[in-house]
Amino acid sequence: ILEDEEGGVVFFAPSLSSASSSSSRFGYASIGSQRQRLPVYKYRTAILYLVETHATTIIVGETGSGKTTQIPQYLKEAGWADGGRVIACTQPRRLAVQSVASRVAEEMDVKLGEEVGYTIRFEDVTNPAATMIKFLTDGVLLREIMDDPLLTKYSVIMVDEAHERSISTDILLGLLKKIQRRRPELRLIISSATIEAKSMSDFFQTSKKHRGPEDHEFVPRKVPAVLSVEGRGFNVQIHYVVEPVSDYVQATVSTVLSIHDQEPAGDILVFLTGQDDIDAAIQLLAEEAHASRKISSGLIVLPLYSSLPRAEQDLVFSPTPRGKRKVVISTNIAETSLTLEGVVYVVDSGFSKQQFYNPISDIENLVVAPISKASARQRAGRAGRVRPGKCYRLYTEEYFVNEMSSVGIPEMQRSKLVSCVIQLKALGIDNILGFDWPASPPPEAMIRALEVLYSLGVLDDDAKLTSPVGFQAAEIPLDPMISKMILSSNQLGCSEEIITIAAILSIQSIWVSGKGVQKELDEAKLRFAAAEGDHVTFLNVYKGFLQSGKSSQWCHKNYMNYQAMKKVIEIREQLRRTALRLGIVLRSCEGDILAVRKAVTAGFFANASRLEAFSHNGMYKTVRGSQEVYIHPSSVLFRVNPKWVIYHSLVSTDRQYMRNAMTIDPSWLTEAAPHFFQNLRRPDPIAH
Ligand code: ADP
Ligand code: MG
Repeated sequence: ILEDEEGGVVFFAPSLSSASSSSSRFGYASIGSQRQRLPVYKYRTAILYLVETHATTIIVGETGSGKTTQIPQYLKEAGWADGGRVIACTQPRRLAVQSVASRVAEEMDVKLGEEVGYTIRFEDVTNPAATMIKFLTDGVLLREIMDDPLLTKYSVIMVDEAHERSISTDILLGLLKKIQRRRPELRLIISSATIEAKSMSDFFQTSKKHRGPEDHEFVPRKVPAVLSVEGRGFNVQIHYVVEPVSDYVQATVSTVLSIHDQEPAGDILVFLTGQDDIDAAIQLLAEEAHASRKISSGLIVLPLYSSLPRAEQDLVFSPTPRGKRKVVISTNIAETSLTLEGVVYVVDSGFSKQQFYNPISDIENLVVAPISKASARQRAGRAGRVRPGKCYRLYTEEYFVNEMSSVGIPEMQRSKLVSCVIQLKALGIDNILGFDWPASPPPEAMIRALEVLYSLGVLDDDAKLTSPVGFQAAEIPLDPMISKMILSSNQLGCSEEIITIAAILSIQSIWVSGKGVQKELDEAKLRFAAAEGDHVTFLNVYKGFLQSGKSSQWCHKNYMNYQAMKKVIEIREQLRRTALRLGIVLRSCEGDILAVRKAVTAGFFANASRLEAFSHNGMYKTVRGSQEVYIHPSSVLFRVNPKWVIYHSLVSTDRQYMRNAMTIDPSWLTEAAPHFFQNLRRPDPIAH
């Protein structure tokens, strides 16, 4: 052990003798020996020692080295889950939570939901009496802090994938640092694939005011330990394109086909940006492979993105049959949070979908943007897991060297902060700007968030949560605008309807994907379409689904995604329970759509826009910010272009599109939020 007191860094040399010790010790036959071959296994003793002796341990190790699946098991084996305590491991992504939990349950040979469980929003697969290892999203752990501010049931909390720097991870790190001061026995593990370990370490040791608890028999060291797990990655040869590519979907497909044609066996992992371009690539791949029959045989092409149904996810992780080659086309979820076996070739488009927020226009967009060098290296690393591999970058070397930024921007600094602020307020953290952030959020974004929350009636003049609205809104695990909509439905007598709408809005889409069936899909939508817009249309859809007896055939016939509808029912049930807990009277307005629309407006007034007078192409301008926006083609109001609408969210492709729009009367806006609109020009009744 080498210690460096000043830097607070502890380096560990793995003890080589432990590497091949008895394979029967854990009682897992073949999985047991698989576990011992993972790079972290050599560090098992070191990790347990550091966790025992340090309040915080930072573990850096390459993707696939076994951090997520093994460390919680080591902790359990060492007794950290004894006496009813729980070991938590957080992930930024829901899909990763489910996937690693089921892997660990399998490794331990237990039923998922018993000793090993997981919790994601709207889905709790744990048994409080039995669960020892719990995987959960960092967002869910934040919610748990509201009910149990010191997280007393956990003995160790492992904040995984910390390099992703999601908003929730950052808030969590700030809060855990506080909690740790009150609970010296709590252990933290911060783990990640690439981290500036120094800055994390600095973050956790700067608490000058701290005084140790006198009556505690053993005080762990405050200086974080840093352990670097050496991977066993193989060399990856990098190939760049010579000329910049104009269409990366097309370039992806050509690259995959030429790998398949010319390279020896080994699976291919492709990084694209989202479901739309993944689907497009799969379709194109099918067409081109079909056209050149010679090379098409033996390819198994699979998508991977977070909203993928469970059964399709499992396909991605199942072993590739002999003589076949698997091609997994993924979002950046496969960059670090999931490990795929057998990948030898990586195709990197150089892009991912990233959230960007402009506090001036108050517009948040998920846009396709260039990745950082750190991401590009991670992606390439995926090719060297089983043997030396190759990575094909669909950008030039010149671009990589000179133009790509070296690290990504933390989500905190490029997102809307409304949810973040309300959560901190609910946790009693009033001085938000003074909060101990790993990376400070931009003050303009903070101010915007405070302004919206104030207009929603969630915060008062002193920026404290209002009672009851603010406290209630904070209890609902949804965007505060949705929470406000639900709370307003109570007075308006339409809570049943609004909860249905809220449930459907939290699903990506209830329709099947439109590729190849666009016309049929449009006709199906027309059967439910309401003149008032998408929100009211959802009510018709939901009613139809119930009347069909929740039939999958009915969904199929109406181009509706049955899995999504089942999920809606589940979420709705959860929201009903939350509403009851908050004292909301569950009541249907029996077709009084005006009440429903007013409730939606009460939450979403900030997303109002008006059709430009004399606009021939359906151009709207947002009321706040005067941004140019259009109704999304998937909306029932597409081409109808009513004068005033409010929308649920914006997506930007070639333009800014409003997804899920509803017609309103502009007078409802000032009624719902007088403060928010007071400085605006009054709606001009003669325009248009
Ligand atoms: P890390 O967190 O360091 O990236 P993991 O603990 O996720 O690593 O993965 C360690 C190993 O466990 C992987 O290399 C893989 O062999 C195996 N593994 C992880 N998840 C799965 C899964 N869902 N199915 C099969 N094997 C898995
Ligand atoms: Mg991991």
